[in-house]
Amino acid sequence: MYRLVCVHCGAVYAPDQILYNCRSCGHLLAVQYDLDTISVDRKTWNQRPLSVWRYRELLPVTGEPVTLQEGGTPLYHLKKLGAEMGLPHLYAKHEGMNPSGSFKDRGMTVGVSMAIQLGMKSVACASTGNTSASLAVYGARAGIPAVVLLPAGKVAIGKVAQALMHGAKVISIRGNFDRALEMVHELCLSEGIYLLNSINPYRLEGQKTIGYEVIDQLGEVPDRFVLPVGNAGNISAVYKGLRELESLGFIDHLPKMTGIQAAGSAPVVRAIREGLAVVEAEMSPETVATAIRIGAPVNAEKALVAIRETGGTAEAVTDEEILCMQRDLARKEGIGVEPASAASVAGIRKLAEQGMLDRDETIVCVVTGHLLKDPESVIRQCEPPIEIDADMQSLLAALQR
Ligand SMILES: *Cc1c(COP(=O)(O)O)cnc(C)c1O
Ligand SMILES: [Zn+2]
Repeated sequence: MYRLVCVHCGAVYAPDQILYNCRSCGHLLAVQYDLDTISVDRKTWNQRPLSVWRYRELLPVTGEPVTLQEGGTPLYHLKKLGAEMGLPHLYAKHEGMNPSGSFKDRGMTVGVSMAIQLGMKSVACASTGNTSASLAVYGARAGIPAVVLLPAGKVAIGKVAQALMHGAKVISIRGNFDRALEMVHELCLSEGIYLLNSINPYRLEGQKTIGYEVIDQLGEVPDRFVLPVGNAGNISAVYKGLRELESLGFIDHLPKMTGIQAAGSAPVVRAIREGLAVVEAEMSPETVATAIRIGAPVNAEKALVAIRETGGTAEAVTDEEILCMQRDLARKEGIGVEPASAASVAGIRKLAEQGMLDRDETIVCVVTGHLLKDPESVIRQCEPPIEIDADMQSLLAALQR
């Protein structure tokens, strides 16, 4: 049993309403379960494969889900990078290993399943790229049409390719992500299309399972949980999920929730630094990490609570620091991620350099999307292949260079 509750004024709504904002105050809604009535134990969970659906008692879907076996992603110990930073217990949860190559699949398996459960006939989103790729994939799996709005010229090529190939209607807006979100929101309300951005409370239910998996993989609550922050849905979702585990008595404390943004797009970092109650939008966000190029994060209110309530922090990293960490993860650990994903680990390197971290901390960085999402940013950074004549002498000469 669950209901929708306004995160601001506490107004309560029935779960079968198609509603994204509170009718009385306009703030976002969250799914609230009757945790007393939910019967679940660790043993049942442990018998199921590690995946989003291991935790189905804490998800709103009642029927057969629309699934491609999302979640169950690897948790890697970053031995070399951790040693360099003086952090022997540093881990990366590689969300690029999901079906469409980003954590958005956790949200979409639940979100599209809910679209079907609620009787909706089509789905839509605005996207910096990965949400559109994931929605196209799950729309195809469910057999319902998907519409995606992208900021023209600002989406990594791999993500556009996925949205196109999986058959979504792809529309590029001459404007930024924040404007695309306003437009798709209006479209969904007027045309009766189901909106699957992270203002959708059900989508975030899927994303909270990142936190559940990490605890199951580590066998304990990490001291710190680090996520790149764009719209701030993911950090809010993980926090919400862990609070539920705490209420159920499965864990007895929460990790320090730590949000990392790009320096050119850091409204949450500014709000944390300056102790603001609300974030002030960044009007022209800019960063190489296009997945977090968001100036007006819609879930910021919840993210500020997550960070403050757990004694976490927020930090900004430059594009140079992001790309440097992308290369380090690739070359020193064999982990290929897109720029936004490298931001979480780059943020930890920066906090470590500032002496903000305890050497004994167990730190889990979520790396959110796969390297191949954004091949152009890779090609720009790396030396091109060495082209030679097809003879052995040229080959040996090339190896000498
Ligand atoms: C969506 C996304 C983010 C940002 O997540 P939010 O929930 O918007 O904060 C970070 N990295 C990647 C790769 C993403 O696709
Ligand atoms: Zn309200």
